[in-house]
Amino acid sequence: MKKIDLRSDTVSMPTPSMIKAMAAAEAGDDVYGEDPTVNRLQAMAAERMGKEAGLFVPSGTMGNLAAILVHCNRADEVIMGNRAHTFLFEGGGASALGGVSIALLPNNDDGTLNMDDIKAAVRTENPHHPRTKLIVLENTQNRCGGAPISAAYTKQVGDFAHSMGLKFHMDGARIFNAAAALKTTAKELVAPVDSVTFCLSKGLCAPVGSVLCGSKDFIYEAIRIRKQLGGGMRQVGFMAAAGVVALEEMTERLGEDHEHIQALTDGLTKIPGLHKYLNPPISTNMLFIGLDDSVKADGATVISKMAEQGILIGSTGPRTFRMVTHYWIKDEDVNMTIKAFKQVMSSL
Ligand SMILES: *Cc1c(COP(=O)(O)O)cnc(C)c1O
Repeated sequence: MKKIDLRSDTVSMPTPSMIKAMAAAEAGDDVYGEDPTVNRLQAMAAERMGKEAGLFVPSGTMGNLAAILVHCNRADEVIMGNRAHTFLFEGGGASALGGVSIALLPNNDDGTLNMDDIKAAVRTENPHHPRTKLIVLENTQNRCGGAPISAAYTKQVGDFAHSMGLKFHMDGARIFNAAAALKTTAKELVAPVDSVTFCLSKGLCAPVGSVLCGSKDFIYEAIRIRKQLGGGMRQVGFMAAAGVVALEEMTERLGEDHEHIQALTDGLTKIPGLHKYLNPPISTNMLFIGLDDSVKADGATVISKMAEQGILIGSTGPRTFRMVTHYWIKDEDVNMTIKAFKQVMSSL
C-alpha cells in the first residue's frame, strides 16, 4: 500500500537530484573550514537571506539556540510568543544551556505579537530585573496554522528592537513558504532581523540541516557555540550538497504545496464533523482541523482509521489534527485523503 504521510514536511525524503548531488559531492573537514560544498551552501544561504554570512547547523533547533546564546548572556531575557517553536518545542534549551529567561507574550492568530505588548515587555534598567536582549519571531508561525508574517510588520518590530538596542532573531524554519505565500522574497522578509535560521530539511526536502545567517561577527561567535553544542561536523558536504539543490530547485515550487492545502481545506471542511480550528488569514502548507463536539469518537480513533488506509496525519490534541503538504504529496494524494476522511468520518 502506498503511504501518504501528512504528519509533517519533515518526513519529506530527498529528491532524485539531491541524491545525485550528494553522491557526487566534494567534501572536506568542515571543522577546518575546508569543505567546499558547505562553504558554497553557506554563501548561497547568506545571499538568499541578504546577510553577510551563513553557518550550516544540524537542525533548526541548534540554529535558534546558537542565535539566542550569541545574543544573550545568562539571566538576560528574550521576548517571544507563547506559540513559538523556540518556546514550545526546543526542550527549553535557551533556559537549560543559556540560563536565559523568557518573557512570553500571547501570539495573535495571524502569528504576530502586539506591538504594545512587546513595548511593555522590555525591562527598564533596575537591579531587580533581568536585562531584555532579544526579540524572537517565527515565520511562518507553525502553531498559528502556518501563518506567514509580513515584511511590514517585521520591519515595525525590527525598528522598535533596534531603537531600544535589542537584537532581533527570526525563526524562519519555513521562511520560503512565507515568501511564496506573500509573493515576495525571503530576503525582504528578513531584512529587519539581525539573525535568521531556516530549515533545508522540511518543505525543501534535504535530509538534514538548517542554516543560521547574520553578520560576519555574529557568525564568528555562532561557530564557537555550535562547537560547544557538538554541532561541528566533518565531511558534511555530502549533506550540504542536498542543501544546495534545495536552494536551487525547491524554493520556487512551494506554492504547489499551498495549493494542495487549499484543496484539502475545501474538501475536508465540507465533511460533516470536521472544522478548521486554526485560521491564519493566509494559509501556507499546513491545515489544522478538529472534530466537532457532535462526533463521539476521539482523535486517536480517526488517526488509526486513516492509518489503516495508508494515510498518516498528525495529532495536536485529543480531538485535533495537523496535516502538512510537501513535495511528495501530489494531486492524487490530496484526493485520496479527502476520500478516506469521508469514509472514516461516516464510519464513526
Ligand atoms: C521544525 C522547526 C524548527 C526546528 O527545526 P529542527 O530541524 O526540527 O530542529 C524550528 N522552528 C519551527 C517553526 C519549526 O517548525
